[in-house]
Formats: sequence, structure tokens, C-alpha cells
Amino acid sequence: MTGTVVNQAISIAPCVLDERCEALRREVREFIADELKGYSALAKAKNWSESDPDFSRKLGAKGWIGMTWPREYGGAARSSLERYVVMEELLAAGAPVGAHWTADRQSGPLLMRYAPALARRIVPSIVKGDAYFCIGMSEPDSGSDLASIRTRAEKVDGGWVINGTKLWTTGAQHAGYMIALVRTSGTSADRHTGLSQVLVDMKSPGITVQPIRNVVGDADFNTVIFDGVKVADECVIGQPGDGWMQVTSELAFERSGPERYLSNTQLVLEMLAVADEGDARHKVEVGRLVADYAVLRQMSLGVAGMLSRKEDAGLAAALVKDQGAVLEQRIPEVAHALFADAAHAADSSFRQVCDYATQASVSYSLRGGTREILRGIIARGLGMR
Ligand SMILES: Cc1cc2nc3c(=O)[nH]c(=O)nc-3n(C[C@H](O)[C@H](O)[C@H](O)COP(=O)(O)OP(=O)(O)OC[C@H]3O[C@@H](n4cnc5c(N)ncnc54)[C@H](O)[C@@H]3O)c2cc1C
Repeated sequence: MTGTVVNQAISIAPCVLDERCEALRREVREFIADELKGYSALAKAKNWSESDPDFSRKLGAKGWIGMTWPREYGGAARSSLERYVVMEELLAAGAPVGAHWTADRQSGPLLMRYAPALARRIVPSIVKGDAYFCIGMSEPDSGSDLASIRTRAEKVDGGWVINGTKLWTTGAQHAGYMIALVRTSGTSADRHTGLSQVLVDMKSPGITVQPIRNVVGDADFNTVIFDGVKVADECVIGQPGDGWMQVTSELAFERSGPERYLSNTQLVLEMLAVADEGDARHKVEVGRLVADYAVLRQMSLGVAGMLSRKEDAGLAAALVKDQGAVLEQRIPEVAHALFADAAHAADSSFRQVCDYATQASVSYSLRGGTREILRGIIARGLGMR
């Protein structure tokens, strides 16, 4: 280190939820308790990886999708803190929110901001829990280095023709639409210049979706191949060439939600169920996890508060996502350290959830931006690189 004074800081102001939010929380809890009767512990452990269109439609009918969006798009014009409460209750309870999650979190806001005509056509269906989206950013050889993507859209009369391959596309098998990042001019050497986001109807001729089986045996993500897929001019989101600027602001939404630390809650509940109150080690270790949860929740809620005040939350969101993944990956480690010796039958909920969480957690520091990339963003934000 040189003697340079670093004056940047990450500041997350505390956020307090008002009575309106807490009343909504009670309503959501009541609804979920009823809806999730009969769900297995393993199904709950999968929370936002699990898609259930019927459940999404029920949430839509309650007004809990697109909650903050303007009424002209079918939204409920509620506050982002009310939305936060609904999200954390759904996730903590292990509700199957995967079908509509991406559309609610980022695709709807993207369309309303940069493509109002498309938004007027599609967003009301998102709000009803009928329209699902997937995100086509990553490609073979382009993940962290997203600017190197090679999928191209060539201009033709009345629209664009897309050729290329997207990789790790979560939910492409269920989604009606993809927001694809494509190159509309120049070459990979031009990096951030010449990239655009395009709305693709997943039923278009020329699209092949190939499932990829992950380590737990599920096929959440896919390879998506575009072979001469035609999209209309109006499907370019914003202006051609604005894709990079749009993607970076979209990633702040993608990284800031409570799903970045509430994926393994079911395992904490399972640990509490099998822990021995008289065992000091159980108390200390599980207590530490719960304390860390409390800190992360305050940070995540603080980020929600920043977003509600329209402040730039990109750096704080990167910090919460990174620290959320650290905690989530520690939870199965603690479960093994404390309870590995105890006899838990293979079909016990503790064993099933623990096995699932152990394997699934590996991906938590990859999806939505890897640990190293997030820490690079944080270091840059703090003026350290
Ligand atoms: C469960 C899951 C769901 C996903 N869903 C989607 C989706 O829906 N849509 C989508 O577009 N993508 C999705 N992804 C892809 C995800 O965004 C990428 O996996 C991620 O961005 C990393 O890219 P990569 O896999 O190509 O790894 P690489 O970028 O090749 O990284 C490999 C390793 O090198 C490190 N590394 C790379 N560059 C640097 C650097 N400059 N400095 C330091 N270290 C570096 C990384 O941190 C990582 O540890 C998903 C991934 C997972 C695991």
C-alpha cells in the first residue's frame, strides 16, 4: 500500500419497515401457510429454483407480482419495501417462485424503462403470473467476460436475424420470452460497443433448447441455440448499441434481492429441528448462523431502502450478494460438522435437504456473477483498484 488516502466507502443506511409492511407480512404468511400445506421439505429447499405456474398465477391474483409497477401496466403501485416483505416471506417459506421470478425481478422493469411499447403488450401478463422470462447473457467462453459474446443479430428488412448459442440459461424450457444480449454491430474486439438487448419469443422458429443436468440431477438451466431466428425491429430494447449500459443496470436488480441469502433457509430450519438444546456446540454454531442471517437481512433491507429512494445500490448489492453466498455456503458445512455423526435416515427431511443444499450451494458463488468478479467490483468501488 502507498500512503494514498482512500475516501470511498460502502454505505448502507438502516431501513425500518413500517406497520403497513408488517400487516402485509401477516397476510402473506397466512396465504403461504395455506398454499404450501403438503409441500415436502426438499421442495421447499428448492424455493426460487422451483417453477409452479399455478402458484405464480395465484400470486398474480393476489397482486404480488409487479407489485411496484405503475397501474397502467397492471401493477399495484406499492412500495419497494412492501415488495421486499413479500419476497422474503416467499423465500423463507420455500415457495416455488421460479416461474415468474426473473420477469418480476428484472425483465418487467427493463421493458418498462427502455421499451414502453413492448411493455404495454407484455407486462400485464407478467403481473398475472402468465408470462415467464429467461436471461440470455452467458455463452460458451463468455461468462465473466460478458463483453466477448459472439451471438449476432444481423439487420434484415423489417427486423434482425439472430445466430449463436447461449449457455446456462435458467428456465429457458418454461419461458415464453428471453432477453438476449447480442452483438448488432462490430466484432468481439469492440467489447462493450455494438451490443444490444433483444426480446425473443421462445416459440420462434430456429430456437433449440437443450437441458443441462446439474450436479443435483435437476435440469434448471439450458443451452439455447439460435439458428436464423427472426425478430422484428420493435424487439430491440432501447437503441441498438445500448445493450451494455442496460445490462449493467439490470445486474444491480439481479444481485440485490433477498434471494441472494435466503436459498438455504430450509436447511437452517432442519438444523433447528434436530439440534439438541442442551448441546453448547449446537447452540453456539447455529446461533452464529442466525446472527449472521440477522446482519445480512439488515444489509439486504438497507439495499432495498436505497433502491426505494432511487439511489445507486450497485456496489452495496454486490457486497450483499457476495456475503450472502459466503453465508449460504457455510450453512451446509455447519450442518455436516454438527450433525454428520447423528443417524439421520436417508429419507429424513434433514438428510434430504442437507444433501441437496451441499451440492446446490456450490453454484451460489457463480450464478449472477462470480465471487471474484463481485469482489473486483467492490474493490474498484472502494478505490482499491
Ligand atoms: C445456477 C446457475 C444459473 C445460471 N443462470 C444463468 C442465466 O439464466 N443466464 C445467463 O446468462 N447465465 C447464467 N448463468 C451463468 C453465470 O452467469 C456464469 O456462470 C458466470 O457469469 C461465470 O461465467 P463462466 O461460467 O463462463 O465462468 P468464467 O467466467 O470462465 O469463470 C471461471 C472462474 O474464473 C474466475 N474469473 C473469471 N474472470 C476473472 C477475472 N477477471 N478475475 C478473477 N477471476 C476471474 C471466475 O470468478 C470463476 O471462478 C448461471 C450460472 C449458474 C451456476
